[in-house]
Amino acid sequence: MQLIEVFTQYSKLNRPFTYYYDGDDLEVGVRVLIDFNNREIVGYVAAVKSTKETIETASKRLGFELAKITKILDEKPLLTNELMELSENVTSYYLTNRISVLNAMLPPSLRPSKGSLSAPKIAMQKKVSFKPEFTDFDKLTDKQSSLLSEIMTHGSVLQTSKNRTQIMQLLNKGAVIVEEIEKYRLRYEDYPREDPHELTNLQKEAVKSILEDYKETFLLHGITGSGKTEIYLALAAHYLAQNKQVIMLVPEIALTGTMLANFYRRFGKKIAILHSELTPAEKYDEYRRISAGEVDIVVGARSAIFAPLQNIGLIILDEEHAETYKQDVAPFYHALTVAQMRAKSFNAKVLVGSATPSIETMARARKEVYGYYYLGERINLQPLPETTVVNMLDYKNVTTTSPYISKLLATEIRKAIDAKTQVILLVNRRGYATFVSCRECGESKKCPACAISLTYHKVGNNLKCHHCGLSFPKNDPCIKCGSTNFSYTGFATQKAEEDIQKMFPDARILRLDSDVSRKDKTPQVVLNKFMNHEADILIGTQMVSKGHDFPLVSLVAVIGTDANLSIPSFRSSERTFQLITQAIGRSGREKIKGKAIIQTMMPEHYVIQHAKQQDYFGFYEVEIRHRYLTSNPPFYFLLSITMSHQNERTVKDTILTLKLNLIKALGEDATVIGPTATFYPASGKTFNETLIVRYKNYFKIKPALLTTLSPFREQSSLYVHINVDPYDV
Ligand code: ADP
Ligand code: ZN
Ligand code: ZN
Repeated sequence: MQLIEVFTQYSKLNRPFTYYYDGDDLEVGVRVLIDFNNREIVGYVAAVKSTKETIETASKRLGFELAKITKILDEKPLLTNELMELSENVTSYYLTNRISVLNAMLPPSLRPSKGSLSAPKIAMQKKVSFKPEFTDFDKLTDKQSSLLSEIMTHGSVLQTSKNRTQIMQLLNKGAVIVEEIEKYRLRYEDYPREDPHELTNLQKEAVKSILEDYKETFLLHGITGSGKTEIYLALAAHYLAQNKQVIMLVPEIALTGTMLANFYRRFGKKIAILHSELTPAEKYDEYRRISAGEVDIVVGARSAIFAPLQNIGLIILDEEHAETYKQDVAPFYHALTVAQMRAKSFNAKVLVGSATPSIETMARARKEVYGYYYLGERINLQPLPETTVVNMLDYKNVTTTSPYISKLLATEIRKAIDAKTQVILLVNRRGYATFVSCRECGESKKCPACAISLTYHKVGNNLKCHHCGLSFPKNDPCIKCGSTNFSYTGFATQKAEEDIQKMFPDARILRLDSDVSRKDKTPQVVLNKFMNHEADILIGTQMVSKGHDFPLVSLVAVIGTDANLSIPSFRSSERTFQLITQAIGRSGREKIKGKAIIQTMMPEHYVIQHAKQQDYFGFYEVEIRHRYLTSNPPFYFLLSITMSHQNERTVKDTILTLKLNLIKALGEDATVIGPTATFYPASGKTFNETLIVRYKNYFKIKPALLTTLSPFREQSSLYVHINVDPYDV
């Protein structure tokens, strides 16, 4: 008999349950069906032990009645040894449970969950080829004959519903061979091959220093337009030539298309893509192509870091500073941390690239923990755009048509359109008005579940909560006084589109924000239209500021980011600086000289001032001092613990108990801050409280932290979420 340790998704604990199995030897890493409190659920086999004991003696020794594994679901383990070990390391680092890590790692159809059982399976198709021994051509009908000659010219054809009957007849006459082959459901556009650009001297030097550097992680710091992508391609070529594989991560699904095209043009077909917008069937197929070794390069968003490649040489994270690399639900992993774990297993290199590296990454480069190269020149030697800051507090600067548009911006837009160049406007809020309040009593409209302000969306004519996604009718009466008379303020993308269209009736305008991308599924469609000059102005949220290379853009204006600066987070300055700098960098990429305008009510703010000068190093110096004075990363590390419970009193009392226990257990090694009621409760019915733990050495506090947390995590009605290295606190 074998004793099997099984992880289940229904346990909040990272603790396996023991079952027995008396069939053939079972392997670690397969999924099984088990009975769990009279429910049939899927589990993941974490350990197998053979024993000579009987079920009765083993049950007695363990103190509970052993149940049998109901069914084995996989023939082979789902993950390679390296990935199994990785799942353990991720679980351990992020203080989470194994199942949530496996769910993050695997495509839906392979996840250890009941839903996976009805998920797509391998699709097959029939490949028909000529049987060389066949000679009886005169016995064929005309139709059969013409199909057979088609098969002979092409080598083979695929069976379709149309040619099926003919193929059966050809098969009966012994003229063809029919094989079942796997069908991959993702269609790739066939990009023409393209030869590499001759690298500039600076690019060559960058490649050389990256290859010669012995450190595991390397920061390629290159201003926008300095040709980082070409360096990624050159490095990929180097590793592929050594039969090593490459993972290329981009921060957003919208950017996978462009990056895929770059790699496809250079390296051809041995590429797969992985991201969450593929259909489950496509994802399953891509995953198996990678597992089967048919692929050398994987391009994708965050989760592609788990691609089952078996000989990784290089992992690249483009736009390293992007917050999307951190998953904001359990297991709260960061793609860079996972990349570094995988790099250790393969002795591979991690390359992170950015024009505005995160403060933490830059600090590590300064300390020589990471390798570093700075590319301070644009490929075309174009200077960075000339940037003007417009003070929107001064009414003389503002147009009469829209309080959100400055006179300077209006003039420059006119000039750009007349010169047949293009304009990008960054408005970092989606919707129409970000603040809706009662004209009678002043009460603002808030989401009943999240208690944050609702945004009015003119498209759809409703109010939306940008946190939980719920929408509400526009004309629901005021909850305080019952009035239906509201005022709409706060600037967002739809309003910007309307105001700009009013001012420039002849302008062709496109809008890009996550509302658009949800509806049409692909921001790529909007971006392609803009690229093809089917529009003069692109208005959008941060989605417009990243990665894209539009040669005709001569003007970029940042018209609404002040709100970002007032978000209470130690990262809000860094984020806003990155956002503005990235946006401005879109201006003047090719022959056209670029201009940029920053509209703000805080013209003297150090973020605005350094962004205006495109002065990353100046910004870094101020910001790193701030971080030091406030004891924030990279000087200290943070971890947040959020507790939720249906009863407010219970959660408030319990979190205080936890705080006292943590202080006792961690002593001098950590500071415990809080509790604070979390701004966003997880849902309408639970109350959340959060503690922040601040420390210098994670591995020193981890054992005591785990022991202290464990009794709280075991309470059945209490939820405890732990976020290690949280992005936002
Ligand atoms: P970054 O990612 O650093 O902002 P890109 O990689 O997008 O910059 O490069 C900017 C532009 O320069 C692109 O149009 C790219 O095709 C072009 N480019 C890059 N390297 C070279 C080169 N060695 N020779 C000619 N053009 C290049
Ligand atoms: Zn009211
Ligand atoms: Zn909400």
